[in-house]
Amino acid sequence: MKSIPVRNSKGKKEILHLQAVVKMLFKEIIGQQEVKNRLLNMVRDDRTPHALLLFGPPGTGKLALAVAMAQYLSCNDRQREDACGVCPSCVKFGKLVHPDLHFVVPVLKTVKVAKDPVSDHFMTEWREVFISNPYISESQWYEAIGVENKQGSINKEESLQIIKKLGFKPYESEYKMMIIWLPEKMNQAAANKLLKQIEEPPDKTLILMVSENTDRILPTILSRTQLLLIPPLSESSIREGLLQQDSSDQQMVDDAIRKSNGNFNRALQTLRKDENELQYFELFSSLMRLCYSKSIIEINDWVDKVAGLGRERQKQLVDYSLKLLRENFMLSLKQEDLNFMSRKEDEFSRRFSPFIHGGNIHTLVETFSLAGNHIEANGNPRVILMDLSIKVIRLLMQKAPHAD
Ligand SMILES: [Zn+2]
Repeated sequence: MKSIPVRNSKGKKEILHLQAVVKMLFKEIIGQQEVKNRLLNMVRDDRTPHALLLFGPPGTGKLALAVAMAQYLSCNDRQREDACGVCPSCVKFGKLVHPDLHFVVPVLKTVKVAKDPVSDHFMTEWREVFISNPYISESQWYEAIGVENKQGSINKEESLQIIKKLGFKPYESEYKMMIIWLPEKMNQAAANKLLKQIEEPPDKTLILMVSENTDRILPTILSRTQLLLIPPLSESSIREGLLQQDSSDQQMVDDAIRKSNGNFNRALQTLRKDENELQYFELFSSLMRLCYSKSIIEINDWVDKVAGLGRERQKQLVDYSLKLLRENFMLSLKQEDLNFMSRKEDEFSRRFSPFIHGGNIHTLVETFSLAGNHIEANGNPRVILMDLSIKVIRLLMQKAPHAD
């Protein structure tokens, strides 16, 4: 873990421990060449506006582009097409700890911050989440701070912080830079305070707003802000981004692109979900084969492997197994018009389904559900999974009841 000295929002020095570094140069952001050129030109031609709003649908890299823009503006050794990536300013940007870079994000009361929450309370989480996925969605952000299914906001308390921070002289950069993620989440009081800052901007200040819904932003703010539409990503850009994720399965990459609708975050989630499902499929189908052949030694290895996956994934494996068992039962009833299985699941199920029938499906479902409950209740996974396997061996041996 790296530790570096930085200034906190009050200008005091503190030591920050960071595990990862974000690579947020323009060249590392997929696609959007036209937008990049426009942003680069603003800085190169010395036409950087006081307030700039990047807007458009989710998952297109708006936030990443805003950070890259600020990094370029602040770089000590600006290149023609990008920031240098190695000067002291760039190094601090790489960890999102530059003292002249401020973030404002929607927040809400959490277990950790029970009163007057503002962005600064959540900066450790924010850096972590953004570094791991610069295409983060609003709901993923709330999930990361432990308040899923709720809505955050940018409140009046925050607007006082904004004014204070914009009032500072820059510490190290020529500019003060503030990135406001989702300004549509501002309440009226905060929006009015921000408007004042945009109407009479402090010198050498760049306010970068990143919005997914400009209808909810005060028209008076919009009219004083330079607007830049960030369009959905092209298929080839999304493919390029997915291939950087070490995914080798061409079919899964194609599937993720098809479902993405120009949203890289969605493509990434689809790919990860498909990869997880593939892993669960492989675990489930191998367990069924091992149980059928009563290969106790290999079952023991299987149990060891799954016991190491962690509770959350074990539960997902159980859910996946239940789904596939039910589908196989339907298939064994000859309802062959089921086509919601992947090609691999389909191939496996054509051979496996004759072993799933009215004589064992109910007990199988019960056995897997019970294992899921025991995992959830923090039981010992090795014991639970071994017990499950032994029961499955017996259940697969049962003969189908005669149909007539
Ligand atoms: Zn630099």
